[in-house]
Amino acid sequence: MFPDYRLRQRDYLLQISRAMTARLDLPSLLKLILENAVEILSGQAGLIVLRRDDGTFYPRASYGLPVQAIHLLDPLWRDLPQTADRRGWQVPDLSMRLSLASAAAGVPLRLVVALPLVIRDEIIGLIYIFRSRGADFTVNDRQLLGDFADQAAIAVQNARLYQQVNDERARLDAIIENSGDGVMILGPDRTIHAWNRALVGMTGVPAEEAIGRHCYEVLDLHNRQGVSVCHTACPLVKPPADGRLYAEGDTLRADGIKVSLADNYSPQYDEEGKLSSVIASVRDVSRLREAEELKNTLLSIISHELKTPVSIIKGYAGTLVRQDAHWDKETLMEGLSIIEEEADKLNELINNLLDASRLQAGGLKLQFTYLDLPSMAEQVVEKFRPQTDRHTFSTEFSPTFPPVRGDHERIREVLSNLIGNAIKYSPNGGQIRVGGAVEQDEVRVWVSDEGIGIPATEQERIFDRFTRVDSSLTRQMPGAGLGLFLVKSVIEAHGGRVWVDSRPGQGSTFSFTLPIMNPAPEVGG
Ligand code: ADP
Repeated sequence: MFPDYRLRQRDYLLQISRAMTARLDLPSLLKLILENAVEILSGQAGLIVLRRDDGTFYPRASYGLPVQAIHLLDPLWRDLPQTADRRGWQVPDLSMRLSLASAAAGVPLRLVVALPLVIRDEIIGLIYIFRSRGADFTVNDRQLLGDFADQAAIAVQNARLYQQVNDERARLDAIIENSGDGVMILGPDRTIHAWNRALVGMTGVPAEEAIGRHCYEVLDLHNRQGVSVCHTACPLVKPPADGRLYAEGDTLRADGIKVSLADNYSPQYDEEGKLSSVIASVRDVSRLREAEELKNTLLSIISHELKTPVSIIKGYAGTLVRQDAHWDKETLMEGLSIIEEEADKLNELINNLLDASRLQAGGLKLQFTYLDLPSMAEQVVEKFRPQTDRHTFSTEFSPTFPPVRGDHERIREVLSNLIGNAIKYSPNGGQIRVGGAVEQDEVRVWVSDEGIGIPATEQERIFDRFTRVDSSLTRQMPGAGLGLFLVKSVIEAHGGRVWVDSRPGQGSTFSFTLPIMNPAPEVGG
């Protein structure tokens, strides 16, 4: 081969290599390769076809050929042998194929040289150079073309790898974005690089606000004692001895609600072993925490509240049963009635606990009938009247008070809880008024007392499970903090509302409404 050729070829190949590193646009790269190969081989046209997965070929780039003619040249690449020795592989009957193709396409191509594009022993395509006049291609020409074929093969392979990486990345992005768990990707300095949709939901912080900031600013986890977990116990800063990179803590969601999050970190290292990024999966464990707290509260309430009546019952029963003592009838009756009273309290507490757990499991069913609330209130008052001599009772229902649809047993429990509380939380006695009136399409029933009252800040909270006002007076009274939770659940299941008006030291009025034409279904809970 002439040195001049070699020099030109080197220049061309250099130009192609530069183009390859500068851009990955496959069509223009292949076109440049063809252009240079045609020129160095003194041809007029060139074509690159690529192999599909099924073994057939399709034209991918051309030079010096009319666009409409390209597909008509297909005899050149149709029905090629599938397997052969890659190195010596040739297009069989190439000259015949060319005369067929050029006649079909109406282009004056007379001579052709074709070489396979090979990557790791696999043919991924073919490069053709055409002459419409002059001498036939020589062995030298084939050798020259070989280098261009290699470049084209590398360009195609690069483009495919690039496409593959892109596809993988898009798939990974979609998995991260749509994962039910929160996922964030952090840089080595704990700046947030990715923040998925689940995390937006958990924290209320949109991705564009989170990305670029440090995770300890955005999540800002605190433990139950209010100490910053991110600043004192971040496992990325102080990896624990067992190597488990885990952190748990509370954060304030954008809407001000506290959520408990649990993070698992998995660090990624580069080839030199340096930390390159951290993938953190984040779970909202608020419900788990809540359930744990509830369990603890329940255990302490059960042990405290059940123990008191049981020990009173045991004390009285043990005394009354003594063989060596002869009790007069009056003492006996007094002891037995205390036992009965305490057993009633136990019964009520157990019923409340059972109802609360049924409610939680969604198993509280309502049996609707028409209720005569004034006489029901009268009966409940009569039940309580003998239990106290410090309180006076009055019932005041409007004469037009209508029958209301509701579950007899449950509404009786509601009244019983409210009247029981009115007595319990007015230790100095006073008047307890139970009344009702019609207000538009609903009735309102109230129970008022002249007792200790409830601070404004507590008036909503007391309807939550196991919530009691934290005061010495309340602590003296037995109670599990379940009564009002049940009242609220039952009333809401009936389609009504419940609330309290109260001023500390002046008494409280609890009110609930029930719809007159109850549209609630037969089954509720
Ligand atoms: P419990 O009475 O068993 O503690 P409840 O759910 O019935 O539970 O009541 C929750 C809390 O609400 C009580 O602990 C008490 O602090 C407050 N409370 C309820 N009723 C009254 C009332 N009539 N007057 C003052 N405080 C009340």
